[in-house]
Order: sequence, then structure tokens, then C-alpha cells
Amino acid sequence: MSELDQIAAEVSVCQRCPLAVGRTNAVPGEGPPNAEIMFIGEGPGFHEDRQGRPFVGASGKLLEDLLGSIGMTREQVFITNVVKCRPPDNRDPLPAEIEACAPYLDRQEAALAPKIVVTLGRFSMQRYFPGQSITRIHGQVQRQANTAFVPMFHPAAALRNPQWMTQMRADFARLPALLADLRDAQAAVAASVPQQSVAPPPDDFEQLTLF
Ligand code: URA
Ligand code: SF4
Repeated sequence: MSELDQIAAEVSVCQRCPLAVGRTNAVPGEGPPNAEIMFIGEGPGFHEDRQGRPFVGASGKLLEDLLGSIGMTREQVFITNVVKCRPPDNRDPLPAEIEACAPYLDRQEAALAPKIVVTLGRFSMQRYFPGQSITRIHGQVQRQANTAFVPMFHPAAALRNPQWMTQMRADFARLPALLADLRDAQAAVAASVPQQSVAPPPDDFEQLTLF
């Protein structure tokens, strides 16, 4: 079983926080293991809880539309949330629930090693940009090692506010160039790795490291 499938299997029976009580289905997230972009929302809503799939309601339709605007489909990206079970009445997830669920997200991120992580809304933004304001930093790329983090509005917020919708479309429009940049950078790094550094260690390697 792949690590992503393993995580999904664990999430589906998880009892680590009280959100387990009210769920119909846990929503681990979905997407191919080689996805280059990972989207992180807040938590499952009514429809997501019913179907066990992320972003299948109105927010999901907008996300698909935004992906379409840059020539992509949801099948090409990985989509998940900070909490995998629906908070009652769609209330905000509590800090303790986010913390309890974080190991799953950490592991999904490690398994995917995406080129771009897009945070959707405040709760996933706080994971990488604590104390920041979404209206101030949306669309601003922060690179860490091989990954670019891009905070964006939550689709539900964009659906309520035409100005944020316009800004969200603009933030999306910059993703293809960013992706191309990151692909080039990784290709350059791969090409510059000297042959020696990937060669097996010499026979006496282990002995040498003992002293
Ligand atoms: N909103 C979210 O944050 N996540 C979903 O999966 C659906 C709606
Ligand atoms: Fe487990 Fe996360 Fe669901 Fe809480 S929200 S029960 S930690 S999977």
C-alpha cells in the first residue's frame, strides 16, 4: 500500500479528536501521488462528509473552475484539508482538533513532496504563515527549499466577495509560471549533481565512519 493510501486508511477510522463522533465519513483527501500542487482547505462541509471526498460542494465547483482557468483538472492535483472530519454545523475547527489532525497532513505533504502548496483560507495559512493576514499576503509566494507556498483566499470567501474572487483568479493565474520555474530549478539541480555523489560508498566506508 502506498503511504498516501495508508494515511487514508488510518484517517477513515481515526478517533484522535472529538470530530470523529459527528462524522458520516472522514475525508482524507485525494489526488495522484505525483501531483505537483497540493491544495489545503479548512475542513469537510456537508457534502464532503456525505461523500467522503474533499471540495465536492460549491467551493469545489469554484476550485475546479479556477483549475480550468489555468488548463488543469482536479485529477492532476492533490486536495485535502487541515481537519479530515466535518466540524458540527460547519463551525471553525478548534486549535486542539487541528493539532490532533496535523500528523496526517504532515505525512501527506512528506509523501507527496509537492512543488507548490496552496493554502485555501485562514486555517491552512496559519500552518505556514502564523499571525499573518490573508488579505495582506494572499498570492505572495514563499519558497522553502524545493517547495513554494502560496496563500490564497478560501473559495467560499471568494464566492461571498467579488473583490476577493477577482484577486483569487489573479493569484491562480500566476501558478503556471511558478510551476514552470520550479520545474526548471529542479531540472537544473538534477543536472548539476556530480556523478560521484550518487556513487556507492567505498568498501571501507563503514569502517571509516566508526572512528
Ligand atoms: N471547504 C473546505 O475547506 N474543504 C472542503 O473539503 C470543502 C469545503
Ligand atoms: Fe482524526 Fe483528524 Fe478526524 Fe480528528 S479530524 S478524528 S484527528 S481524522
